[in-house]
Amino acid sequence: MTQDNRPTVLVVDDERVNRAVLAELLADECRVILAKDGPSALQRTQEERVSLVLLDASMPGMDGYEVLRRLKADDRTAKIEVIFVTGQTDEQDEERGLLLGAVDYIAKPIRPALVRARVRNHLKLARQREELELLSLRDGLTGIANRRHFDMEFNRVCRHAVRSGDSLSLAMIDVDYFKQYNDRYGHGAGDMALARIAQALVATVQRPYDTAARYGGEEFVLLLPGVDEPAATLEQVRADVAALGIAHAGSDTAAVLTISCGGVVARAELAREPARLLRWADEALYQAKREGRNRTIVLKP
Ligand SMILES: [Mg+2]
Repeated sequence: MTQDNRPTVLVVDDERVNRAVLAELLADECRVILAKDGPSALQRTQEERVSLVLLDASMPGMDGYEVLRRLKADDRTAKIEVIFVTGQTDEQDEERGLLLGAVDYIAKPIRPALVRARVRNHLKLARQREELELLSLRDGLTGIANRRHFDMEFNRVCRHAVRSGDSLSLAMIDVDYFKQYNDRYGHGAGDMALARIAQALVATVQRPYDTAARYGGEEFVLLLPGVDEPAATLEQVRADVAALGIAHAGSDTAAVLTISCGGVVARAELAREPARLLRWADEALYQAKREGRNRTIVLKP
């Protein structure tokens, strides 16, 4: 069986004939799934990666407005685009749907060419938005996750740690004597060095739920969910960067570019305060700097 990689559109309508008409109409454009009422529509959006919902405004029980409100109120589904489909052509209904966050409005009786064109347009926009969003989470210079991506992941991982009781480890990393490196070898060489270090971090931290990000300038950050003994991993990262062998005649620590690494292990209760956790990691990093750089310090507050 071949997998259908096309975007998924959820058609929600209490009348079977309407569902069938829309499904048939869109079969060439996308993968269509169906729901006959509000609760099962919400259920489907939790189970599947839905790009677009065609939502009947008028349904018994939970109507389309309530479904839309709940979709937008849930982080996991808030970004799914919704087109209202309704027999009420009243301008107020249209406005209400758009105010709640619908992207478009289709009036019944359905005009097939129009529906197909609108769905096609919105799927294209959704795809572009997803691509932009991916780009906006990546650091332009190094290609790894950026600060924004890290902030999102960090908050998510902390919330998860609080819920699950799991530990998590966080590390701040700073390139030693980087200003001197730039002064001596030029900013182009400095940028290349940062990119190589970033790749070394990503290569070492390989579990899919770990995050290695550029935090800013020559600072990086590692997020290791579920890890309560990060010292060996961080020490490996430090050794891997030194092993890149990027000559640095201006370093007081070594003949090559090195990093200092400050780690902190958070038990669940500390995960309630992400900002404090970051300050602990910073403190560990400064300690590593004070003690001579090119080393790893792990704190367990
Ligand atoms: Mg209806």
